[in-house]
Amino acid sequence: MDFWSAALQSLPPELSEILEATRRHNRWRRRETINLIASENVMSPLAEAAYLSDMLHRYAEGKPFKRYYQGTRYIDIVEDRVSKLMGELLGGALVDVRPISGTIANAAVFRALARCGDKAVVPPVQAGAHVSHTKFGTLGALCIEQIEMPFDMDSFNIDVDKAVKLIESVKPSFVVLGASLYLFPHPVKEIAEAAHAVGAKLVYDGAHVLGLIVGKRWRNPLDHGADVLTSSTHKTFPGPQGGIIATRDESLFKDIGRVVFPQFVSNHHLHRLPALAVTAVEMKYFGEAYADQVVRNAKALAEALASEGFKVLGEQLGYTKSHQVVIDVRELGGGDKAAKMLEEANIIVNKNLLPYDPPDAIKNPSGLRLGVQEMTRWGMKEDDMREIAKFFRQVLIEKVDPAKVREKVVEFRKSFVKVHYTFDVNPLEDGKLILLE
Ligand SMILES: *Cc1c(COP(=O)(O)O)cnc(C)c1O
Repeated sequence: MDFWSAALQSLPPELSEILEATRRHNRWRRRETINLIASENVMSPLAEAAYLSDMLHRYAEGKPFKRYYQGTRYIDIVEDRVSKLMGELLGGALVDVRPISGTIANAAVFRALARCGDKAVVPPVQAGAHVSHTKFGTLGALCIEQIEMPFDMDSFNIDVDKAVKLIESVKPSFVVLGASLYLFPHPVKEIAEAAHAVGAKLVYDGAHVLGLIVGKRWRNPLDHGADVLTSSTHKTFPGPQGGIIATRDESLFKDIGRVVFPQFVSNHHLHRLPALAVTAVEMKYFGEAYADQVVRNAKALAEALASEGFKVLGEQLGYTKSHQVVIDVRELGGGDKAAKMLEEANIIVNKNLLPYDPPDAIKNPSGLRLGVQEMTRWGMKEDDMREIAKFFRQVLIEKVDPAKVREKVVEFRKSFVKVHYTFDVNPLEDGKLILLE
């Protein structure tokens, strides 16, 4: 009998439903599904083992070696080292690892750069702005006015000339680039110049592309004029869920740090830090190979979906330069229906607004957003992308019974059970949790 089955028998019944659901989740999402959610990834077993440390019970308010709490001597070492490792990966930057998510990183930076009543120029929502860039989200909570940059469908990107004029006339406190629906790099240099000319800062939200940036397959915004980079640490960067803020400007770093704590974080979820450090070192050694394969896989998936008969966005530009592929499934019933049909076949995706959708199409938008980063980490290559495109065709175009496709997906997935781009040690498999006595 396996561990879980034995545990379920000896535990009170109140727990069995919850533990059974957790167990089934693990098996389903880690072994039986093709996960194409563009904002997710998996940590290596080594990082997962490091995540399960006693640090998950502790507090360490303040900065390393200058704390408001006792008992932090080893936490200080880890936090200091992981900040430096992340800084090195970004070509030299000061990094605050305390934000517990990308949204919290944005909140702290936005607050440090703008007061209530100020203005921010951000990407348009339909073209991929994150909810934290909007009046419904973090900007709204901070009472900063949201002004959207114009988008150009031909280049599938910010309309640079119009955006520059907008920045000149609005004179915002800051401008945001980076997005959640993100195929091609935003024009950092041009927008940075326009922002700086009116005394505004440029915030680059790299939540989706951090892993590609440190793997050198996406330009580093700090090299092109961005004043500060905010990010999640769990999308293309395959670490624990969390956030970071990076900048090369020492005084800005201090100003932002004074907002992170005490305004947005008290306990910064310390168990993230050893796992983030493991992932950072993995990215140092394997990041380029990983990012390279991610970008190749995205392109292969886009091309394969197009040849299976799907309408893939960005065709005139080679479909994608990121980990994402975007398809328009309006004629196949819309994003809501398509995403649910794919889930029946154990293919996990999310519906997404497309730049030409009306904003109120949110319940049934035209698009599906696909990301290949997690499946790349599980070892998939270009040929596997072509198999995935065939499953898409069977479910959405040929309307084969999703349960039949599911059987094939489960079988296909059996070849991908090991996380790649990491060191050859697996403390979980060996049953040795190195950090818990
Ligand atoms: C995911 C995302 C974030 C932050 O998300 P968290 O879940 O809070 O880490 C911020 N910006 C963009 C563009 C994102 O896609």
